[in-house]
Amino acid sequence: MSISVVGGGLTGCLIALELAESGRSVVLFEKEAEILTRASYANEGKIHLGFVYAADTSFRTAKRMIDDALQFRPVLERWISSREFDEMLYDRFDYLVPNSSMLSADAIEAHFNLVMQYLKEQVATKSASYLGQGNLQPVVRSGTDNTNLQARFSTPEQGVWPAAIAQKIRECVSLHPKIEVRVGTAISKIRSERNAWFVTFEASDLRDEGPFDQIVNCAWAGRRRLDAASGFPDDGEWFYRYKFGVVLKNARAAFGGEPPRNSTAVLGAFGDSVYHSVEDTHYCSWYPVGMCFSSTDLAKDEPPRIDDPEKAILKTWKGYSAMDTTFEALLSSKPLENAHIVGDFIAARAQSDIQDPQSKLHERHSYGSVELAPGYWSVETGKYTSAARCAHECSQRVRGR
Ligand SMILES: Cc1cc2nc3c(=O)[nH]c(=O)nc-3n(C[C@H](O)[C@H](O)[C@H](O)COP(=O)(O)OP(=O)(O)OC[C@H]3O[C@@H](n4cnc5c(N)ncnc54)[C@H](O)[C@@H]3O)c2cc1C
Repeated sequence: MSISVVGGGLTGCLIALELAESGRSVVLFEKEAEILTRASYANEGKIHLGFVYAADTSFRTAKRMIDDALQFRPVLERWISSREFDEMLYDRFDYLVPNSSMLSADAIEAHFNLVMQYLKEQVATKSASYLGQGNLQPVVRSGTDNTNLQARFSTPEQGVWPAAIAQKIRECVSLHPKIEVRVGTAISKIRSERNAWFVTFEASDLRDEGPFDQIVNCAWAGRRRLDAASGFPDDGEWFYRYKFGVVLKNARAAFGGEPPRNSTAVLGAFGDSVYHSVEDTHYCSWYPVGMCFSSTDLAKDEPPRIDDPEKAILKTWKGYSAMDTTFEALLSSKPLENAHIVGDFIAARAQSDIQDPQSKLHERHSYGSVELAPGYWSVETGKYTSAARCAHECSQRVRGR
């Protein structure tokens, strides 16, 4: 019998690949027309070291992010060559602390110092490297002449270009002889019968498919609903947010020849500006504009409609221009023909939104795979940063059954 994986995001695809490579036959069900088109495609690819989680005073989130980040490249390099991976990387982030930040620049600096201490310890004791960086760049605080900012920190934190990773992983999955991909197939229920698992989906009628030895639910925003429909409700507190950013092609010219340094605004006016030189593409998110849905429940994980995308794009750039004045070049050239919006849901255990300093959204450390019944696994990815480690750990547990 084979194994079924529901959800072809980065986590589901990496699990399918690892199981297939170990000789198991895998059927991968994906509701969209193509795998890797949702959150694992629409995010900015930051491989977090926990800098942004300065409001988690337990420090558990930063530790978890660092542990996961150190495994990201080694797991991905089973499928992507080192040279290809280098080309998918983009440059380091500066952290910008606006005057409106929930935490002072001094408090953020104290957190950053702890992050660096833990990161260096882990790199040394595990003989690991963060995304292949030889010498970690230190955190350096500098002043700024931008009157909206308290401080600017350069950091060693980097990211990968998710669209490039998605393209490569799609190829690996589609070429693997032990993986059958079933796109356009939304699984509505998982059920067991005589020690085997079956999935139900709608075609022209309601169809069942199986039997499968084991089943792995990697449906991210749709995961909890599928578990509940299959008899495993999770009554914990959940918060779903739809976040979008603006992707700009031919970015160098649009910025007047000099794209901005990569940056993240913390903690309060959240946003990111990322430039990938190989693709000459820029990504910008600005929470006050790009966070267009938030709720403690998600009935359907269909993206909300954005009524006036051009206005949303200009508002995003305008918002970020308060953090980084190089954005003024975009506001005068308005390269809308090269810009489009990408976004998706973020699913996390919390009760209130990010503006609340007490919100559990400021923590992200309790995620991974759980076996809800013998052979039924539900995988909460946590972050893009953690997808590789979650997938590897879950694959090992599935193989060990
Ligand atoms: C805008 C944005 C920015 C982000 N930025 C970062 C970042 O910089 N760094 C970071 O670490 N994390 C970031 N994240 C979080 C990160 O994107 C996610 O944690 C991660 O991509 C989730 O991976 P996944 O494989 O679990 O989910 P997905 O990639 O969403 O894959 C789940 C798949 O399951 C499919 N599916 C759902 N329901 C069903 C069903 N019933 N039947 C069949 N298929 C189904 C979906 O179509 C989808 O393809 C961001 C998220 C967003 C939305």
